[in-house]
Amino acid sequence: MTSYRQKKDPQSYSFEGFGTPAFPNLMLRGAGNLDNWRLAIYQKEHEGYLGLKRALSMEPSQVIDEMKASGIRGRGGAGFPAGLKWSFMPKDTADKKYTRYLVCNADEGEPGTFKDRSIMEYNPHQLIEGMIIAGFAMQCHMGFIYVRGEFLWLIEKLEAAIEEAKKENLLGQNILGSGFNFDLIVYRGAGAYICGEETALLNSLEGRRGEPRIKPPFPASKGAFGQPTTINNVETLAAAAPILRMGGAEYAKIGTPKNTGTRIFCVSGHVQRPGLYELPLGVPLITLVKDLAGGTPNGKKIKAIIPGGASSAVFTESDFDCPLDFDTIRDRGSMAGSGGIIVIDEDTCMVQVCLRLIRFYAHESCGQCTPCREGCNWMEMILTRIENGEGRLEDLETLKSMTPRIAGKTLCALGDAACGPMDSILGKFRDEFIHHIEHKKCPKPSCQLVTYSH
Ligand code: SF4
Repeated sequence: MTSYRQKKDPQSYSFEGFGTPAFPNLMLRGAGNLDNWRLAIYQKEHEGYLGLKRALSMEPSQVIDEMKASGIRGRGGAGFPAGLKWSFMPKDTADKKYTRYLVCNADEGEPGTFKDRSIMEYNPHQLIEGMIIAGFAMQCHMGFIYVRGEFLWLIEKLEAAIEEAKKENLLGQNILGSGFNFDLIVYRGAGAYICGEETALLNSLEGRRGEPRIKPPFPASKGAFGQPTTINNVETLAAAAPILRMGGAEYAKIGTPKNTGTRIFCVSGHVQRPGLYELPLGVPLITLVKDLAGGTPNGKKIKAIIPGGASSAVFTESDFDCPLDFDTIRDRGSMAGSGGIIVIDEDTCMVQVCLRLIRFYAHESCGQCTPCREGCNWMEMILTRIENGEGRLEDLETLKSMTPRIAGKTLCALGDAACGPMDSILGKFRDEFIHHIEHKKCPKPSCQLVTYSH
C-alpha cells in the first residue's frame, strides 16, 4: 500500500517474540516486517483466518465456551474474563430481536503503553479475524474499531486490511458461505485519554462529548446507540484468533491457572532494550526487566518500577520479584493495568515523577466530577511548588488527605488512577519530598531543582 507512512523506524522497537514451545508467540508474529499486515502473509505464514473457519463451523454459544475455556482475561486493564463478558450479551427471544454491536477499544493512551498500535500496525488481520469471531459468538453484525485520534497511519492500514478481507469474503455478507454477516467501521477518536473509558468512548462514537456515563446501565444492556454492546481491547480481540485456532483448553495451558495465555508487555524508561515483549503471564517482573530488557544502562540501580501503566502504584525492590499476573500484582498493592512497565533508575527524582503523572491526570480530567476536576488540579499545584523548592511540610499531609476524598468518589476510574501512583510515591519516597521542602534542592540529576542547588 503506497500511501502507508511508517511513523517510526522499526529498528527503534525491539520485538522479542518467544516462538518456542515454552514461550509461544501468539500476538506479535512477524512484527517488525513492514509487509506483515498483508492478508497473503497473514494466511500463508501465520495461520491466518483458521480460527475464524473453525468458529464458523460451531454454534455461537460453543465459541463463547471456547473463550471461557481459554481463561483469557481482558487485556485492557481490569482483567475481567473475556468469555464471561461475551456471555452477558442478551440473546434473541421469540418476541424480541436485538441489534447488538461490538466495539474494539483501540484508544490506547495510557502513558507507558504502546502495544495495541503495534498489533494494528503489523497484524491488523489478526484483530479483524478476532472481531469477526467475537461478532459471530455474540451475533453482532456490526463492529466498530475506535482508534485513537493520533494514530492516523494506523487508520489507513486498518482500512486497507478490511478491504482485503472483504475481497476474500472474510468480511461482509455471508462470510465464507456461512450465512453470517458482519461489517467493520474504523472510527477515529479525537485523542482524549478519557475516551479509553468505555462509556466515554461510546459517547464519542455517537458524536457526543467524550465523557463517562453513569453506570448502570452497563454497555451490555444499553451501549452504542442505545443497543447492547460489548467493548473489548485490541489485544483481547486479537487473541480470539489463536484461541479459536488452537482451542481454548490448549491456550489455557500457557501461563498460570488463573492467568492464562501470553501478554504483550511494553517496557520503557531506564532499560537497555525498551520495547514490546510477548510473554506467558506469571513471568517474574525482574526477569523481564533485567534478563530480557537488559536492566538499566550503565548498571544504575533500579529505584522503582511502574508495573501496569501510569495509573498503577509503583513497586520498589521488595516487589521486583512479583509474577506478572493480574492477581499477584493486585495483592501486592498495584495493578497489572495495561501492561506498561516503566523502569526508573536511582538518578531519578520521584517528586518530579509524581508531578508529571499528576499533571497528566489533571490535564485529562473531563471535569464532570468535582473531586477529580478540582482535586487533580490542587494536587498538581501543591506538587509543583514542592518540585520548585517552595513547598511546606504540611503540604505532605494535605496531599495525603486528598486521595481518600477523590478515589472511589468519582464517576469513572480516572480519579482513582491519579491517586494510586501518588499515594505510593508519597508513601515510599517521602524522604525525597522532605528533602525538596527542607533543603530547597534535589541531589538527583534528573530534577530541575538540581540547577538551584549547591
Ligand atoms: Fe471525568 Fe474525572 Fe469524573 Fe472521570 S473521574 S468522569 S475523568 S471528572
